[in-house]
Amino acid sequence: MTETQSNKRETWLTKDKRPIVIAGPCSAETEDQVIETAKRLKATGKMDIFRAGVWKPRTRPNSFEGVGVKALPWMKRVKDEIGLPTTVEVANAKHAEMCLEFGIDILWLGARTTVNPFAVQDIADALRGVEIPVLVKNPINPDLALWIGGIERLQKVGIKEVGAIHRGFSNLGEKYYRNRPQWQIPLEFMRLNPEIPMINDPSHICGRRDILQDVGQKAMDLDFDGLMVETHIDPDNAWSDAKQQITPEVFGAMVTEMVLREDYEDNPQLQSQLEYLRREIDHVDDELMNLLSNRMKIARDIGAYKKDNNMTILQQKRWNDIIEKSKNVAVKHGLSTEFVTKFINAIHEESINQQENIFNSK
Ligand code: PEP
Ligand code: MN
Repeated sequence: MTETQSNKRETWLTKDKRPIVIAGPCSAETEDQVIETAKRLKATGKMDIFRAGVWKPRTRPNSFEGVGVKALPWMKRVKDEIGLPTTVEVANAKHAEMCLEFGIDILWLGARTTVNPFAVQDIADALRGVEIPVLVKNPINPDLALWIGGIERLQKVGIKEVGAIHRGFSNLGEKYYRNRPQWQIPLEFMRLNPEIPMINDPSHICGRRDILQDVGQKAMDLDFDGLMVETHIDPDNAWSDAKQQITPEVFGAMVTEMVLREDYEDNPQLQSQLEYLRREIDHVDDELMNLLSNRMKIARDIGAYKKDNNMTILQQKRWNDIIEKSKNVAVKHGLSTEFVTKFINAIHEESINQQENIFNSK
């Protein structure tokens, strides 16, 4: 082959600019809050599309569920007066119809909608024959097929401009993130669907402000096509997701500090399949470290408990049970029992060391 191949990901969303940055409040609260956030975001010069939640699917009742349809004219003002394209989350067909009526530019499906194929299909049916871009967040559970399935339902009714948003996966016992990123899942999505834009949502992955920059940067380093960041004029008093929102100015500084890659022509092998797979490996390794650190925190808590109750560190019967159980699990997962025994012993040794430190501390 004589021609130099361009290795840039080519997607409908990033034709003119890459990466694409979406920003705006978790929820539209008042007209002033929406307009003020949009003006201050626009002034940063660091974002392209304005987001706001109008209907908020909440995990538990009695949380703020969004102001509803009355926020749509506020979004229309953002578009007409401030000149920013807008995007809104839709969770059912009626929401989608109302957004179309108010000229919302892009729709997105939330993580709690993507999990439900019936809901996705209803929205898709409402959009049959309509030309509007739709972004689909990953489902709350780490199920790549379900995520891709949601996108396919939209493609089947004729939506051509589909995109994906990676917002992390909920996980029992997770302490560091609000939703564990499990980077290997979006990377596998990108490998299978190189023409579909992949946006990273660090806000819902982190659930806090101090690690937003790192997660967003990691997404950029992994060749994601864009970011979606929650911003609020008064983050501490936001009506939803207060802990993770940042002011438009902090957002501007965050994006300014990031290394945003525009072009990969100087690094032709970056996009190769092998490179993708290697990066998936790197991120599985990161996940392993994160899990190990979660495990050690629990081990230290157990150490403190044993110390308070004058119990020995090593509880032989419990340990034998763990070894036996992991041997069975090894066979089930196609791992050698030798490897699994070594691995679990190394973890155990570290747990004992950590507990010994607790015993020896005052
Ligand atoms: C949101 O974007 O505000 C939201 C509700 O996100 P998710 O669907 O990722 O929970
Ligand atoms: Mn939110």
